[in-house]
Amino acid sequence: MHYLASKHTGTICILGMPFDSTATYRPGARFGPMAIREASHSLETFSPMQEADLEDIDFMDMGDLELPFGNPEPALAIIEHSVSKIVSQGRIPFPLGGEHLISLGCLRAITKEYQGLKIIHLDAHADLRDMYLGQKLSHATVIRRISEIIGLESIRQIGIRSFAREERPLANEILAEPEKIIDWASSSPCYISCDLDILDPSIFPGTGTPEPGGISFQQLIETLFEILRNLRVVGMDVVELAPQLDPSGVSSVVAAKVVRECLIALSPS
Ligand code: MN
Ligand code: MN
Repeated sequence: MHYLASKHTGTICILGMPFDSTATYRPGARFGPMAIREASHSLETFSPMQEADLEDIDFMDMGDLELPFGNPEPALAIIEHSVSKIVSQGRIPFPLGGEHLISLGCLRAITKEYQGLKIIHLDAHADLRDMYLGQKLSHATVIRRISEIIGLESIRQIGIRSFAREERPLANEILAEPEKIIDWASSSPCYISCDLDILDPSIFPGTGTPEPGGISFQQLIETLFEILRNLRVVGMDVVELAPQLDPSGVSSVVAAKVVRECLIALSPS
């Protein structure tokens, strides 16, 4: 499978965002997008789970953004501008991180385009801190910053198993069982933000902040299928693969397979 070889016009647009400036524990997510492309070569284009082939899906890979490191605001501005262009053409952006903060730039763009947007956040971590290490802009504060744009009531979280004490009351308001999310979001445009550390570190060790006690690949895929098949998804990101932290390379293949399945499931049938 080679994403760059897609011959289609691109209803769904993959856009790499190699950025990890605010990673606090172990950096390396900047190498995520290229590792996903590389690992995609080891996978078939056909999905037995969906009886469908990626070759029939109308998507394109726009390559990677060139993002400055250090102060995150200039990088977020580039991300917002690029995602705005994609959504204004009626396409579905599919950003590949990079660390989770990239989702803030994406949602600054998408909330402008879609009224009544709802956000479904899959992660091991709540990412609801107000500040982290003195910083307002961090992978650990990204959902809090997004909630300031769209309101906490427009966000639901799945899979969270790590909270700071200050996050717990906020997270209690928005933690949800996957089954309830379909009803909650049924009439709204939805954005999915998938932090791959929701997976158990035994199958996905290649990430900056591994958190034991996570879900299996199969559980993640089934949850995503439920969401992507039943809701009107207008954008989706997959973040926090740090490939060099897993010398076996398996984490990159896991990420590439999640992306393959989501591209197929997202595609209007
Ligand atoms: Mn996260
Ligand atoms: Mn996380």
